[in-house]
Amino acid sequence: MDALTFLGTGGGIPMTDRVHSSILLESGGRRWLLDAGEPCSQRLKAMGVPFASLDAIFISHGHSDHLSGLPMIIQGAWLEPRRRPLPLYLPAELINPIRTWLEAVYLPEKLVGFAVEYHPWESFPGRAVTIDEGQLRVSVNSSTHLDGQREKIDPSAADRFLAYSIVYDWLHAGKRLIYSADLGRPEDLVPVLDRPCDLLICELAHFEPEELFVFLADKPVRRVCLTHFTAEFAARLEEICELGREMLPKTMGIMAMADGERVEF
Ligand SMILES: [Zn+2]
Repeated sequence: MDALTFLGTGGGIPMTDRVHSSILLESGGRRWLLDAGEPCSQRLKAMGVPFASLDAIFISHGHSDHLSGLPMIIQGAWLEPRRRPLPLYLPAELINPIRTWLEAVYLPEKLVGFAVEYHPWESFPGRAVTIDEGQLRVSVNSSTHLDGQREKIDPSAADRFLAYSIVYDWLHAGKRLIYSADLGRPEDLVPVLDRPCDLLICELAHFEPEELFVFLADKPVRRVCLTHFTAEFAARLEEICELGREMLPKTMGIMAMADGERVEF
């Protein structure tokens, strides 16, 4: 059985009762972190998960609510200590800024005693990589989440402002998990919903719940876990899930996640 633990289910605005995006994925004795919003290091510590046990970290995009906890993971791993390299899968545009960031907070490789291995999504053919001794294929799908920021900050930057959804395919089991991360609109998920998906982790901050449910109603998804809420949606989750049960097929389960909640799939 594979399991997800939602370390943080809040959106991009700090909230009193939810922290930022980070999810622990456990499968076959392996542990991966999906995004590293703060305070993921504290949440892992509270769960008794050693930093040395993380097999890789997957970063969807560079917004701080998905990335801000990374240096504390590195610091925690240094002091634990960790010895093996830490693979980090991420948009290429983040590599140099993260290297500089780690230098700035005095966490260079020669101090921490292990390498951070940078694997840019764009370097893999089809933006897909097979890990875990060929068991797990991890791929990314572009979302329009950062298009508006590109327009405002640097419209000519085609190789920046890249945001991805991340798809996990267990090749031998035929099982598929999709982490939407942050979207511009639900339709960003069209290319990855072309085959059955066992579990879709979907954000709910950048569109109305009705819009998401209309989109998902005819998609081959077994179960939806909602996360990354605005304060407004977080206050209405019972009502939103009820609406989802009315609008989605009876066979599609829907849950709104809370910080610390664990789901097996
Ligand atoms: Zn976000």
